[in-house]
Amino acid sequence: MKIICIGRNYVEHAKELNNAVPENPVFFMKPDTALLQKNNPFFYPEFSKNVQYETEIVLKINRNGRHIEKRFAHKYFDEIGIGIDFTARDLQAEQKKKGLPWEIAKAFDQSAPVGRFLPVSHFPDLKNIRFSLKINGEIRQEGNTKNMMFDFGDVIAYISKFVSLKTGDLIFTGTPAGVGPIQINDRFEVFIEEEKLLEFNVK
Ligand code: MG
Repeated sequence: MKIICIGRNYVEHAKELNNAVPENPVFFMKPDTALLQKNNPFFYPEFSKNVQYETEIVLKINRNGRHIEKRFAHKYFDEIGIGIDFTARDLQAEQKKKGLPWEIAKAFDQSAPVGRFLPVSHFPDLKNIRFSLKINGEIRQEGNTKNMMFDFGDVIAYISKFVSLKTGDLIFTGTPAGVGPIQINDRFEVFIEEEKLLEFNVK
């Protein structure tokens, strides 16, 4: 399986990192070795001094497809969950400056904690899903899919022009504003609406 991540999908987040608002979705990938599951701890990597969280709604692909039309995109995922797109912001800044790829900042081991998934039928309106991150019991990031520039259908249609989707692939759909650094011993709790779907410690 692969993990495809959308960047700059919420205007306020693009602004906070001084990025232009894109005309098309921006995407990058993480390998399967980035996946962190079962609420296992995240180990702060030695190569970065500024690992940051990005809380994102995650789609689980349930059938193979390529060149998917937007109007059929809803048939390609049947579960929605929440994950953290961990980013080594210091390395990413250096890579951006040099115009180099982001993998060392985005694709490292454990950089994609993912929680429990809920069936799509759980959600009355996919364009109005609230989600939030608490660290050490305090709300640190909140978002709502209504503020996405590119909705789930746009994202699936765009990605599948270039990269075939396969059953089990995950799509991280972008982070809202409010990203920030993490510390060793932080306790993460991640919610969709009021439901806690992911929790883990930073070690
Ligand atoms: Mg992200």
